[in-house]
Amino acid sequence: MTLDQLPPLRDTLAEHGLLAKKSFGQHFLLDLNITRKIARLAQVGPGDHVIEVGPGPGGLTRALLETGARVTAVEADPRFAPLLEELSAASGGALTLRLEDALTTNETEVAGGVPAHMVSNLPYNVGTPLLIKWLTGAFTPASMTLMFQKEVADRVAAEPGSDAYGRLSVIAQATSHAQVVMDVPARAFTPPPKVASAVVRLTPLAERPEAPRLDALQTITAAAFGQRRKMLRSSLKALGGGDLCEAAGVPPEARAETIDIEGFLALADTWRLR
Ligand code: SAM
Repeated sequence: MTLDQLPPLRDTLAEHGLLAKKSFGQHFLLDLNITRKIARLAQVGPGDHVIEVGPGPGGLTRALLETGARVTAVEADPRFAPLLEELSAASGGALTLRLEDALTTNETEVAGGVPAHMVSNLPYNVGTPLLIKWLTGAFTPASMTLMFQKEVADRVAAEPGSDAYGRLSVIAQATSHAQVVMDVPARAFTPPPKVASAVVRLTPLAERPEAPRLDALQTITAAAFGQRRKMLRSSLKALGGGDLCEAAGVPPEARAETIDIEGFLALADTWRLR
C-alpha cells in the first residue's frame, strides 16, 4: 500500500478499535483538507526533516509525508503504534516512530545534526511546556508550526498593551517571529474540544538570546506578570524595584503589559549583570 491508497482515517481508527482518551489530550483532525493546509503552512517538503509530537491516528502525519518530508513522530500513547507502523510502511520508511513522552525527548539526538521543523497538533495539557522547551532549550528548531487552544495561540503572538500579552508572548517573541496563521473551530476535531484552536507559526531569530539571558528573562517576566496590575517598581521589588527599572531605562510606574520585548530584555540584562 502507498500513501494515496490508505483508507480514510475514520476507517483506520475503527479497524484498530481506537477511541480518543482524555488523559492524553486526544482531539483528532480527521479531515485531510485541514491537515494538508497545516502542512502547507509549515512550508516543508522534500529534503526537510519534521518532528511531529502526537501523531495519534496520523492525519497530520499523512499530510506531512505527502509533501515529501521525512517525519519523526513522537507519540506517548502506545495504542497507536500498529496503525503508525502501517503508515510508515506506506510512506516507504519516510516515517520513524518514537513511543515516548515528548517532554523528555532529546530533539538534538533525533535531529542528528540536521535542521528539524516542529509541526504538531499539540495535546492541550503539555502544549505550553513543550513550546517553552523548544523556545529556550538546548535544541532550536528550524521552524515551529503548532496548533494550540486559540487563547494560548493569541498569547504567544500578542503585542504589548493587549490583554493577551504576558510571559509567553515575551519569551516567544524574544526568541522568534511569531504569528497566528490559521483559526480552527472546535467542530473540526473528533471529539470536539470545549474551545476553538489556532495554528501559530514561529521562526526562531538568527540571534536567539543565550541561556543565561533567557533564564534572567524568565525570572523578570514571572515577577512582572505575576502581579500584572501593579507598577513594575512594586512587582519587581524583590529583584531591585525602582532602581532596577531606572538602571534599565524602563519607567518604574509602568505596568508589565505595556513593556515591549526590548524593555524586558533590558530589565533582564540589568538584573543579571548587577
Ligand atoms: N496529530 C493528531 C491529530 O491531529 O489528529 C492527534 C492530536 S491530539 C490533539 C494530541 C496527540 O498527542 C495524541 O495522539 C496524544 O496521544 C499525544 N500526546 C499526548 N501527550 C503526549 C506527550 N507527552 N508526548 C507525546 N505525545 C503525546
